[in-house]
Amino acid sequence: MTNETPVIRVAVPLPIREGLDYLWAGSGPAPAPGCRVQVPVGRKSHTGIVIEHPATSSVAPDKLKRATTALDAEPIITTDLLETLAWCASYYHHPIGEVVSASLPALLRRGRAAVPEPVVRWRITAAGREIDTRELTRRARRQAALLEHLANTASATDADLRDAGFARAQIARLAENGWLAREETTPPSCVKTSAPEPESGPALTAEQRDVVEAMTSVEPGYHAFLLHGVTGSGKTEVYMRLIAEQIRTGRQSLLLVPEISLTPQLVGRLERRFGARLSVMHSGLTDRERLDAWQRCRSGAAGLIVGTRSAVFAPLANPGIVIVDEEHDTSYKQSEGFRYSARDLAVFRARRLRIPVVLGSATPSLESIHNADQGRYALLRLPERIGKAGSPAVRIIDLNHHAVRNGISTPMLSAIEQHLAAGHQVMLFLNRRGFAPVLFCPECGVTEDCQRCDSRMTIHSASGRLRCHHCGAERALEWACASCGTERKAVGAGTQRVSAALRELYPSVEIGRLDRDATNRRGSLESVLADLESGKTQILVGTQMLAKGHDFPNVTLVGVLNADQGLFGTDFRSNERLAQTIVQVAGRAGRAERPGEVLIQSHFPSHPLFETLLTQDYAQFAELALAERRATDWPPFSHLVLWRANAVRRAVAFDYLGRLARAARALGAEIDVHGPAPAGMERRGGRYRAQVLLQCERRGPLHAAVDELLRTTRHWPQARKVRWAVDVDPAEL
Ligand code: ADP
Ligand code: ZN
Repeated sequence: MTNETPVIRVAVPLPIREGLDYLWAGSGPAPAPGCRVQVPVGRKSHTGIVIEHPATSSVAPDKLKRATTALDAEPIITTDLLETLAWCASYYHHPIGEVVSASLPALLRRGRAAVPEPVVRWRITAAGREIDTRELTRRARRQAALLEHLANTASATDADLRDAGFARAQIARLAENGWLAREETTPPSCVKTSAPEPESGPALTAEQRDVVEAMTSVEPGYHAFLLHGVTGSGKTEVYMRLIAEQIRTGRQSLLLVPEISLTPQLVGRLERRFGARLSVMHSGLTDRERLDAWQRCRSGAAGLIVGTRSAVFAPLANPGIVIVDEEHDTSYKQSEGFRYSARDLAVFRARRLRIPVVLGSATPSLESIHNADQGRYALLRLPERIGKAGSPAVRIIDLNHHAVRNGISTPMLSAIEQHLAAGHQVMLFLNRRGFAPVLFCPECGVTEDCQRCDSRMTIHSASGRLRCHHCGAERALEWACASCGTERKAVGAGTQRVSAALRELYPSVEIGRLDRDATNRRGSLESVLADLESGKTQILVGTQMLAKGHDFPNVTLVGVLNADQGLFGTDFRSNERLAQTIVQVAGRAGRAERPGEVLIQSHFPSHPLFETLLTQDYAQFAELALAERRATDWPPFSHLVLWRANAVRRAVAFDYLGRLARAARALGAEIDVHGPAPAGMERRGGRYRAQVLLQCERRGPLHAAVDELLRTTRHWPQARKVRWAVDVDPAEL
């Protein structure tokens, strides 16, 4: 292949492993890697991204299809990002087109302009003002109305006029007559003009200064830091100093957070500090807002980009630093489709970009602690809280000795009363929403189960419905048993039941609820948090959502109602997750000046996990947990790939995975092949789910094996009967 017939390799948003080759036959030179092109696939046309100009193609020249339309003159994906995406496709064994697609705002995928489109405004001219609209009304009523409309406003955008019901033809007609003038302006890329002057932060404590100093005194280039700071130790303040320093030198900071909607306080703080330089990227944005944020990143207008998982693919014009807050959080792992870890990719990108990366958490993942132990990350610590409060006192309530009613034990109730009497607030944590998880007939001994999942229907009393939390199935709540008519019982407690019981016990106390059901309307989450902040809510009952970084100085008691759920999980990470949740929830107690108290209800008060957390701290827990992982060969002392499959019939999924496991075992002894085995919840949404786990001490052979297995299994007839997926570094087994 010569230069006269240039070949472009294009990633198209289809489940095709590699890029497709085309002969560039448009005008001008072939579009550079990172540009969008319109290409034919089968009988359809797709918008793809040029990923490279290959020297040769495996497709014969006369068989190559032609591409003639480029959408961009300049690459919209930067070189570093393109390399990162290519790496992702190979590391996560995912089709390149879908990987590239995941990194782009929807409007760009659909071919919209990558630079901000000019806004068209219309203004009435002097000639237009002289028109007698009454006379015009007789001939052209709408045109006259349009003239009158504009005579009353200085100018209006094209979109405004269309909203007001005027047609494009009517506008054009008046413009032809010279009665309207057209103006084009580039939108000010959503800069908030009302943003106040950025405020400067408090003077750093000596500990914070040491941390900032350690991070900024290094040679320019890639450095990875693990910032382990207890909740309320001033990590966010450290991030803000690092960001301010980048802004001062004209560089951009990318700050990843687990879930923006859960942390309005953080966004508020960043807005006050950085004003209009802040750009926010998350799934709640409209397509237009998303594209705006993307453009502000790409142009360099945004000095600080705060975003969730997918913001790790933000196009940075002048990258300066990447920060991952709450790096242990599981929401950084995408659990469907292109299953990537945004935390791991943040580190990868920083290395490519030769800039520092900071992973921060009060409860770092064992992987990151291990990386620090190995010298790959520099460990920095903030062991003390800001303010005088100190760490909260943690106690276990032994449920073997205390009765529980509606999820709450008597010692918990008396503690609640004490803290309320002192004028303080209380948070109760329970990882289960709804009224009760089980509806049970004492006569028949039967529970009400989901017909599509291996799970029970959860009682939602407010709506009078039964819901499956796994597939979303719903039915009416009937208390009478269908077979014997006996009044059935609600067993166990969810957040609805706990708050209802508290309302009955304390009619004059204001009780709030923070869970997905209570916050699914727009703005409801903000109002739940605002009511707690203002002091209106005295007791807040909530799920995992409570564990996020809220800062409520007047909350002095945190109760963990059911810690046992996580103690004996089947996943090798369940203890790590439970420890993280307990430490994070406990961190909500007694910030600022008031000492806090944490009470944990458990049937297993002498479980070693509690012992370590109570008498020592998270770092000690992590050390013991890592020793256990080493002894049992789990990550980070080995690497995992989970090969998942599901089908309507159980045997079909097992047939496919059984063959896969045999093919994997035939590859050699270095890789341990476990399974096939049923997934944690085998039947879900009417499909049987199973998996094969591939485990290896070294990454190289493991990835080579997956590549080989993909080649051999892809064309199996059995593969077409199941839905299968490869999950590299799975977050859950
Ligand atoms: P973390 O992110 O570790 O939970 P934050 O940065 O949110 O900690 O700090 C906890 C609280 O202490 C916040 O209210 C914050 O405004 C305050 N704070 C942080 N650093 C300082 C400081 N140097 N001086 C005074 N207050 C501070
Ligand atoms: Zn279900």
